[in-house]
Amino acid sequence: MPAPPRPDTSALLDGRPRRLLIGGRWTEAASGATFPSLNPSNGERIAELARADARDADRAVAAAREAFEGPWSRMKPRERQTLLLALADAVDEHYDELRHLESLDMGLPIGRPRSGRTPAWEAEILRYYAGWATKIHGETIPNSVPGSVFSYTLKEPMGVVAAIVPWNRPVSNAVWKIAPVLATGCTMVLKPAEEASLVAVRIGELLAEAGVPDGVVNVLTGFGEEVGAALVAHPGVDKVAFTGSTAVGQEIVRTSAGNLKRLSLELGGKSPDIVFADADLSRAVPGAAMGVFYNSGQVCCAGTRIYVERPVYDEFVEGVSRFAEKLKVGDSLDPATKIGPLVSAEQLDRVTAYLDLGPKEGVRTASGGRRLETGELAKGYFVQPTVFADVQDTMRVAREEIFGPVACVLPFDTPEEAVARSNDTSYGLAGGVWTRDVGKAHRMARELRAGTVWVNSMLLMDPAVPFGGYKMSGWGREMGQHALDEYLDVKSVWIDTD
Ligand code: NAD
Repeated sequence: MPAPPRPDTSALLDGRPRRLLIGGRWTEAASGATFPSLNPSNGERIAELARADARDADRAVAAAREAFEGPWSRMKPRERQTLLLALADAVDEHYDELRHLESLDMGLPIGRPRSGRTPAWEAEILRYYAGWATKIHGETIPNSVPGSVFSYTLKEPMGVVAAIVPWNRPVSNAVWKIAPVLATGCTMVLKPAEEASLVAVRIGELLAEAGVPDGVVNVLTGFGEEVGAALVAHPGVDKVAFTGSTAVGQEIVRTSAGNLKRLSLELGGKSPDIVFADADLSRAVPGAAMGVFYNSGQVCCAGTRIYVERPVYDEFVEGVSRFAEKLKVGDSLDPATKIGPLVSAEQLDRVTAYLDLGPKEGVRTASGGRRLETGELAKGYFVQPTVFADVQDTMRVAREEIFGPVACVLPFDTPEEAVARSNDTSYGLAGGVWTRDVGKAHRMARELRAGTVWVNSMLLMDPAVPFGGYKMSGWGREMGQHALDEYLDVKSVWIDTD
């Protein structure tokens, strides 16, 4: 396939340090400090970013507060809708550039499918929430109080939101937070992950293009323990919308307690994917494989524990191993690449430690199992898509989130056993089921303790369908109507009309 024309990113990657967006102005960090952004395909520095700290958090929260209490709060829903639609158009118009940055900075293969959608799916999320902006309202509620007392509710924006996001899908990570914030009339400080912040900086520029008023969305690049923690502790922040690891989520619960901030948490997972013997294996094998290997396994809802009914276990392990071996691993900007690098040297260390641990725990490596270090690949953070077979539920590789392209395959004998073992985890983000039996499909969907269950598919998402975790995979929901409630307070009003 010929390489697609490269979008012009020279204005963003011109070697000048990128700044922070505070109150509509691009400004250096108070400390003047910067940090590099690296291309995970070769370890080379591609940009320098401002390194925000607590002083910048103060400035950004003040700007968000001023915007919240200023004209933004008097803006009509229809006007917020128009802004969301304009931002959606800007994302569509610059989508090739955003995808290019995502590949360069984070390692997502440039040739990845566009989710079969044109326009861009992140633009569709903005349009979906543009629809909601004019449909947020309270209720009139009949009461039984003596006399003529009228009661109704108002839905009001919570206020200033600190949105702290990971690096694994930079465009989605940012848009999933910006869309409901603008729809509900909150304001925000967006803190992208230090591993991949360029997309958030570019979206910051698009906000002005779309006409979003100054201070409504502020962007602070920097480190989690520095500016992230400062935002979470900040008394001027009303709500934290966090996506990231469960360990940091727990830390955020503790740190945010000072002013009892509202919290929504989208955390980690170790999702089961159950393959029954009656499944169409020609679909289940590639579906379950890409349910783990997509984005080099750096997907919160990846189906990493694949339970396979014993009669088809050997055939499945063989099929998924051959599938893994055919996936081209390489530079994220090569259109033929199916599996890009891991995001960072730290992530490489983490994943290779699990690749070493599996055989020590007694798994059989049916495919992959090593870092790729030959030729050009040696400079980047590449590992082979890996299939561990004959895994036991008690092994660490089967219990801990690896966040790399590592499938653990485990045999099972009965549906009851598959459910019990699938649910025996502290996580509950998602689950998959492969079967031709519609009754079994519904039963499994009911019995899996997870926020999303896919049947005969994996990783499907839509702006209208809620996404979020049970148990230690999080609090609250993103996407769909439910996400709005994460940004709205409900006020009850009583009026004695006598
Ligand atoms: P992470 O928790 O290390 O970091 C996430 C964000 O939190 C980053 O912006 C980081 O700078 C910030 N941060 C780190 N420490 C902080 C602190 N003490 N206070 C405030 N902010 C802090 O996660 P990651 O490595 O970026 O992403 C991988 C994790 O994210 C995985 O566990 C994955 O499952 C999870 N994830 C979940 C979802 C979901 O929707 N449930 C989506 C994507 C990723």
